[in-house]
Amino acid sequence: MKVFISSDIEGTAGIVDWQQVRASGADYALGRRLLTGEVNAAIDGAVQAGAGEILVNDSHSTMQNIDPGALHHHASYLSGRHKPLYMMEGLDGTFDAVFMVAYHGAIGAERAILSHTYNPLAVWEARLNGLAVGESALNALVALHHRVPVVLITGDEATAEEARPFLRDIEAVVVKRSITRFAAESLHPDRACQLIRDGAARAVERASSIPPPAIELPATLEVTFLTADMAEMATWIRGVERVGARVVSATDDEPLRLFRTFVTIVALTRSIVER
Ligand SMILES: [Zn+2]
Repeated sequence: MKVFISSDIEGTAGIVDWQQVRASGADYALGRRLLTGEVNAAIDGAVQAGAGEILVNDSHSTMQNIDPGALHHHASYLSGRHKPLYMMEGLDGTFDAVFMVAYHGAIGAERAILSHTYNPLAVWEARLNGLAVGESALNALVALHHRVPVVLITGDEATAEEARPFLRDIEAVVVKRSITRFAAESLHPDRACQLIRDGAARAVERASSIPPPAIELPATLEVTFLTADMAEMATWIRGVERVGARVVSATDDEPLRLFRTFVTIVALTRSIVER
């Protein structure tokens, strides 16, 4: 049993501010410590349930948020920038299950702590087959390509709700209740880790009966940007069409190619983001 873990950070219990998740932030040390606890809890649960190999793909910001020595010794650690498959780098068909740990709600979610979809300065909304989605569904395109089930997601309530339409049988562990984009009621970190450990174990036990993501193919991805210029720029990519002043669309029968188109859109439009 091989488990792939994609770890973000904003969905960690106790985290409510960019200061806790950015390397330059005053409280980053606290943020990464809390995240490490939750990732280790997920690994613990997976190992308890019989997982052999575990790969953690750090997926947040410059993607080096965990002190390698503080990571559970059972897992290997894929970290650093410029990964072709970004939050899903390292996943292939030899894996049996995907975990999404410390994920967060989409930019348009009604109540979701630190909500965003890949780039909060460029992406206003992403829709997959007509439904507004967060990072879980977008990343699930890669899991679908490899026919690997996504079996666990952790974060706030919005994160769990967003995942369900495409990841129907997923084990969702809710560790905080978002009030606004910058306020949430979190479980104590110990309690959050306990729930994640239990959820991870259950998810691994059920993995063989959970189907790959339910994303109908060909799939259509629609991205709405903050500015019209970004939409124009996105059409430089083959297969991307402009369908509104700030909206582009791409349809593909190959989920991995569609995900790569999305990653390219994100990378390209980053160059004209205003700070
Ligand atoms: Zn994220």
